[in-house]
Amino acid sequence: MRQITVLGSCGAFPEPGRACSGFAVDWDGYRLLLDLGYATLPRLLAHWPDGAVDAVVVTHEHPDHCIDLHGLFRMRFYGDPGGPRLPLYCPPGVVDRISGLEPDVDLHAVFDVHPLPGSYRVGPFALTGLPLPHHVLNTGIRVEADGVALAYTGDTGPAPALAELGRDADLFIVEATDRDGEIDRPTRNLLASTEAGQWAGRAGARRLMLTHFWPGNDRAASVAAARKEFGGEVLAAEEGLTVTLGPNQRGGHRIDRV
Ligand SMILES: [Zn+2]
Repeated sequence: MRQITVLGSCGAFPEPGRACSGFAVDWDGYRLLLDLGYATLPRLLAHWPDGAVDAVVVTHEHPDHCIDLHGLFRMRFYGDPGGPRLPLYCPPGVVDRISGLEPDVDLHAVFDVHPLPGSYRVGPFALTGLPLPHHVLNTGIRVEADGVALAYTGDTGPAPALAELGRDADLFIVEATDRDGEIDRPTRNLLASTEAGQWAGRAGARRLMLTHFWPGNDRAASVAAARKEFGGEVLAAEEGLTVTLGPNQRGGHRIDRV
């Protein structure tokens, strides 16, 4: 089974019934998490009821991408004391933020921390974290195995590195925050859906998934705008949506239990 499941699709703060950024990757039994924002942990546990995870990758320190890492820490620290440490790949600011919530405990008791940006072998994957422009250090994530690439921007403004990040990816998950006036801001730290489509095209990605929707946004309008710029399949991230990874796969399906 090679697939990715959306745990959360909102930017900044969650809409009712939704969650902030998070994705669960299943790859031949290996379990990889990409981001763990507000309200993603219960969805993770719905997807993987035993709570077992093989590795976690976090793009940046903003809480809509990392706060439920604290819940995962507590689950391990109190629920499985002395268990094996969980590999965590993230910019150093993520550890600083979560440590601030647990000043009396060393997070390294639970997490085996590897700094991003950087390149690592993570289970079956070659992992690359590339720096992208944001308010804080954000690392776009690319994982490759068996000639299949999955890429995820985290939060980013426009940058040439986006084409490198998503180069020939089977699925390129690109943030499409679409805040009012985004493209007119003097300093760019987020994207509009039109730009998400453009960068997916420049990368030569096969499929595009938009995510990190600003609460209240018209997601169908975001997808329509991206489709004008990108000729491949365009999906909108949706809590519980699962997309199969690999050649000749299309679309996604909902998991009822999430
Ligand atoms: Zn965000």
